[in-house]
Amino acid sequence: MPAALKGIAVSKGICIGQAYVYYRELPEVLEYSISKYDVDKEIKRFEKAREEAQLQLKNIKNTIAKDTPHDITQFIDTHLLMLNDPVLYEDTVSHIHARLCNAEWALQAQVERIIKVFDEMDDPYLKTRKDDITHVADRIQRCLINGPAVNNADEKIDSNLKDRIIVADDLTPADTLLMQHQKIAGFITEYGGPLSHTAILARSLGIPAIVGVNNAKQFLQANEWLVLDGSTGEIHIDPPKKDLTRFRSLIRDERQRRKNLFDLKNKSSQTLDGLKITLHGNIDRPEDVRTLRQYEHTGVGLYRTEILFIEHNEIPSEEAQFENYKRALRSLKGHPLTIRTMDLGADKELSDSLQHGPLIHNPALGLRAVRRCLKDPELFLNQLRAILRASGYGPVQMMIPMVTCVSEIDQVIELVNQAKSELKTRRQRFDKHIKIGAMIEVPAAALAANCLASRLDFLSIGTNDLIQYTLAFDRIDDEVSYLYNPLHPAVLKLIKMTLDAGETGSVNISMCGEMASDTQYTRLLLGMGLKNFSVQANSLLDIKHIINSSQIGQLRCESEKILNLSHPDQIKQAVDELNRKFS
Ligand code: PEP
Ligand code: MG
Repeated sequence: MPAALKGIAVSKGICIGQAYVYYRELPEVLEYSISKYDVDKEIKRFEKAREEAQLQLKNIKNTIAKDTPHDITQFIDTHLLMLNDPVLYEDTVSHIHARLCNAEWALQAQVERIIKVFDEMDDPYLKTRKDDITHVADRIQRCLINGPAVNNADEKIDSNLKDRIIVADDLTPADTLLMQHQKIAGFITEYGGPLSHTAILARSLGIPAIVGVNNAKQFLQANEWLVLDGSTGEIHIDPPKKDLTRFRSLIRDERQRRKNLFDLKNKSSQTLDGLKITLHGNIDRPEDVRTLRQYEHTGVGLYRTEILFIEHNEIPSEEAQFENYKRALRSLKGHPLTIRTMDLGADKELSDSLQHGPLIHNPALGLRAVRRCLKDPELFLNQLRAILRASGYGPVQMMIPMVTCVSEIDQVIELVNQAKSELKTRRQRFDKHIKIGAMIEVPAAALAANCLASRLDFLSIGTNDLIQYTLAFDRIDDEVSYLYNPLHPAVLKLIKMTLDAGETGSVNISMCGEMASDTQYTRLLLGMGLKNFSVQANSLLDIKHIINSSQIGQLRCESEKILNLSHPDQIKQAVDELNRKFS
């Protein structure tokens, strides 16, 4: 039996606890034919099971603490919405009619059909929704198989989970929330990556978590003492007493450190030698501004607007988009809002169009983001007008994703001008001088950053995509996720080129990809010349702490040396050394 296991670290923090091995019993789906006279009865049985599933989810929602942030309870709302989704409901009913089969069988066939469509997608958000479909369908199946009275999978969760480390193959959002309600210490799951639900929820809830631990349930025994390190991805099994003492003291220090960090809330972010750094947050929905403001009253450097399209599975009207942006703006109370135009594409297409569209072999390289918008100017103009109208109500800037060349920018500016004249005709107010910027996510854009800088007001480095495209790996493919390396010399060179282009062209350069939120890179990025960070809300104060305790002069010197190194391992060692030296 190994003394330690390793997985993907997705939510920071160390915890110590006894293992609770959670077996999510998947329902066995029964298949049988029914007579045409029993069709109505079978449909009624399906409806009853669906209502029961709905009731269970509502009960869970009522069980969790009232002050649970909206972005967390939203996971349950998504499942409630899916229960009523016609693709799941109506098509299952039609299947019962057409095939004269039982409801379990019809539902299973429907889920398999939907999952096949999801498997052909390459978008992390939509991939996560595949898990949602399975979780929702499993809940209905349980109600169908066991009957409403006895069945509630959630009751199978032991009532005494306090301080336990959960070991599971996978967890539904409902499982996760119920377990968090019982104050568990952390999670270990066999499946999932950094974008899985468990990972997202664990980060939002501040619970240490490790995912992708192969065969964890086989290696970890119930009640065994574990130490879970959510920063390194390491799980120590039954560690000796002296290690436990060391981990306990690390936990105490970390608790105190996080408490102290709040002293920095709303203080300016500035290096010891006086360089002011802008620190903004990333959001996906207007409600996220509330979470952001728990850490800092600041602006938004990245608002991913495609989430609105994806969550509602339809193109929102200009009015709906305008209201949505205005809501975010109102919550920001005068701080700036950077609205990124939709990053939809062949792979992030709304599921309706996907079912009928052609098969895309390389969706990440396909009709995504600005390419998709320029292909459909009416769709794009709709959003441009909504953004412009919001700019009449507060400080708004517009950011264009996945730009590859200046001709795309020329076309965008032409469309923005068209949208402006339409609003003038309608006598609707907007900011005539709205700032327009582009994301640097494609190596070509970084290499030509000086050309883009000369036409735009700002640039923002999207390292998630920039790293994927530079190192030629699919960011959501578990098989190649080991290639993700922000410290690859090619990545650092592209970042440096972009920062230099900003300096020469007197244009602000920001970074809004995950690299900006990761404290191990903050000193290096400051030394390379990054002055604008847009980060996850719960990283804000950590990053500010590093900024406020750094001397920019020293970091510049050290970073220059690091940029001359050519081996990624040497670079990693040098960055670790830089962090040790100045922390
Ligand atoms: C990025 O690519 O770094 C980025 C911020 O955009 P997204 O993660 O939404 O693709
Ligand atoms: Mg991106």
